[in-house]
Amino acid sequence: MNQRTEIASLGEFGLIDHLTQNNEIKNASTVLSVGDDAAVMDHFGRQTVVSTDLLIEGIHFDLSYTPLKHLGYKSIIVNLSDIYAMNATPTQVTVSIAFSNRFGLEALDELYAGIYAACNKYQVDLVGGDTSSSQKGLIISVTAIGEVAPGNFIKRSTAQPNDLICVSGELGGAFLGLTLLEREKKIFEETGAQPDLENQAYIVGRLLKPEARQDIIEYLANEKIIPTAMMDISDGLSSDILHICKQSKMGCVLYEDKFPINEEAKQFAYKLQLDPTACVLSGGEDYELLFTISQADFEKVKGNKSISVIGYITNEKEGCHLITRGGSKHQLIAQGWNHAKAKEQ
Ligand code: ADP
Ligand code: MG
Repeated sequence: MNQRTEIASLGEFGLIDHLTQNNEIKNASTVLSVGDDAAVMDHFGRQTVVSTDLLIEGIHFDLSYTPLKHLGYKSIIVNLSDIYAMNATPTQVTVSIAFSNRFGLEALDELYAGIYAACNKYQVDLVGGDTSSSQKGLIISVTAIGEVAPGNFIKRSTAQPNDLICVSGELGGAFLGLTLLEREKKIFEETGAQPDLENQAYIVGRLLKPEARQDIIEYLANEKIIPTAMMDISDGLSSDILHICKQSKMGCVLYEDKFPINEEAKQFAYKLQLDPTACVLSGGEDYELLFTISQADFEKVKGNKSISVIGYITNEKEGCHLITRGGSKHQLIAQGWNHAKAKEQ
């Protein structure tokens, strides 16, 4: 970034005006947006869904390989993903930022370009936020607000025995992207060598520019499929299916050979001597949907190439297991699966 405009030259209110000058309202539910003490929303009798996330530089993102525009985009997407995971439609977001004097106006403009790109793509309104300085680094907090017809939200705690376990898209790619970028960062720091991303656009894109699965929620609604339980995959399949099982008081069986893994990602995992299955189970940040459906709905999901059936729900006492390609059975644990305690059954 060549030009640098000091934020102090605008002042706090000047900055907020600057960042929100082209903000457009898209939803009838947004009654009052940026500019007052609070925003006002009317969801016309529908229920309101709220989710919030905090992103801290050095903990959740690394600006040495994350473009600010992508960061802004992703900070919105991860929150919208949570709203879709409730089977709701996101309608508004608030964005709060704190930044040190390392950041000039041009940097914040980049961040907001990504924020607005995501808001436009998913038709949500930016209705407020807060702006502060920080002693060190960048902090972003996004709150997403959505709406759902009364009672139509879907929880994690309502999966039933024999339900099919489904996931959208492909898993493990974001973790591989992170592994590659971290490797190149380390090489750069040690040797000064320019990053070699080896044409791995797919996995890098999965990390830096995720999308929220609005299309899957729409598909399910059109096909009149009501998942029995749902959440988004942010921590890795293993940890996330365990949340559904624990909260539903159920067990599960997952089949390794059913896991949807992108072919390029798989080849790159082998190259790094990583097990693609481990990347699916323990990697994170895929922002795909994980949901359970009753067996009666199997024919309906079969037609969608973006949905994979990867296992089924069992009674709690049967525990949570992975059946490997070779047919052996391993206990699922939050970090993946447990070889040590694996019981061949
Ligand atoms: P307050 O003093 O009540 O915190 P502010 O001066 O911080 O109000 O905010 C004024 C208006 O600008 C409010 O509507 C607030 O929601 C909005 N706002 C503040 N910071 C941001 C931001 N970073 N992005 C979007 N809107 C913001
Ligand atoms: Mg404020």
